[in-house]
Amino acid sequence: MLDTELDDVVASLRFGSVAEDWAALLAAQRAAEGAQPPPSLVPAPVFPQGPGGRWCEVARFECQRPGCGWAVELDTDPGPLPALVLPAGCTPDDVSAAISAGAEARATEQREALERAFREHLREVHAEDPSGGAH
Ligand SMILES: [Zn+2]
Repeated sequence: MLDTELDDVVASLRFGSVAEDWAALLAAQRAAEGAQPPPSLVPAPVFPQGPGGRWCEVARFECQRPGCGWAVELDTDPGPLPALVLPAGCTPDDVSAAISAGAEARATEQREALERAFREHLREVHAEDPSGGAH
């Protein structure tokens, strides 16, 4: 940190009364508690075969608009991950990291495919623009 930056930080410090500081702290805490994550485009899945367990082969993501029966079904067991390509002499941590990266990439791919499907459905069937015009 440069000296000028440090000066700016020191200058920005506010030395109010304890009550003021306490009120500001409480306000910040309330604001943090009230902050909601942005609503997801894709609703939580339902499991037509019952919740949980190994019998749950399909996750169904249903359009939440009233009267609309459209849904995307996803196989909950998409099979093994593609073969790992690892350098010679890799460590168990490298293998673990590669498996995690593969699983994460697949989860991202699935989430993006679901978001694409919902975005298209909302646009084409419900004439909504879920991107908020940011497309
Ligand atoms: Zn719909």
